[in-house]
Amino acid sequence: MLKFTTKTNVLLVFAYILLTLTTIANAQDRPTLTEEQLARVQIQAVPGKEGLFVIPGFDGGLSGGNVAVRVTDNGVVLVDNKFPYSHDDIMTQVRKVSEAPIRYVLNTHHHSDHAGSNADFMPGAQVIGHENVRANMLRNNQAGAPPVIYSHSTSIFMDDAEIQAHYYGRGHTSGDSVILFAELRTVHTGDLFIWGQRLDGSTLAPFIDFANGGSAAEWTDTLDQVLQLDFDTVIPGHGPILSKAEIRVFRDKFSILVERIEALIERGVGRDSVAGELSIDDLNWPLSAPALQAIYDELLDTN
Ligand SMILES: [Zn+2]
Repeated sequence: MLKFTTKTNVLLVFAYILLTLTTIANAQDRPTLTEEQLARVQIQAVPGKEGLFVIPGFDGGLSGGNVAVRVTDNGVVLVDNKFPYSHDDIMTQVRKVSEAPIRYVLNTHHHSDHAGSNADFMPGAQVIGHENVRANMLRNNQAGAPPVIYSHSTSIFMDDAEIQAHYYGRGHTSGDSVILFAELRTVHTGDLFIWGQRLDGSTLAPFIDFANGGSAAEWTDTLDQVLQLDFDTVIPGHGPILSKAEIRVFRDKFSILVERIEALIERGVGRDSVAGELSIDDLNWPLSAPALQAIYDELLDTN
């Protein structure tokens, strides 16, 4: 068996960071989608929820995050807005279902496949985000930090629509909000909950952005509070429209992942062996060795 020295370890982590940065940089370039992929990302009505639409997003590379579009007679509220190049595409799609102006734009978190075109919406719409979304964007020199912030929750009232943003603690980042379309009993979870396959067919697994305050240790607690909200329909950060049951499945899988890594720590397994020793095939989350080691490091610190 290959024994990693500290030096190879540092190199591996460095290579992983480089790869991640390259992926993020590439995400800024507009990819060319096939006809079939394009057909899958067209605006669609959320079944049974009048006035609510989704511009689908399946991944952080090709199609970005899901955009929720709440339409009222007097204006439109967007939740998330994909990439820095996405503004015009989003407007073209919104205009298929409403001529009303975009009044508000909410962010589930700061990542550039969700809040990437904040700046382009600012001249006409009020962009609102959690205080840690603003802090993360300013620290990362990312354009479009929300000028209006909240610490725990905020609400928008438009005609008969009530749109609530709730912050329940750390998870994917330090600034994840869940947006509740109250009378429609539907949430947009951002990347606290993702599901299914990317457009390229690979499987989505939870990503903990430790550099921006993410936490594996606290993720399930955050989801437990989300599950207290009154809703039956779920728009994940990425993936198809689902129900509350799938959030429970995801939450339980996450809890199992954390428990198994904690058990390895208890047994004295070192961080270099965690990927080899951990058995998570049943969870069907393709997590890389550096991703598992980063979770291990956090759990070692918090135990
Ligand atoms: Zn994200």
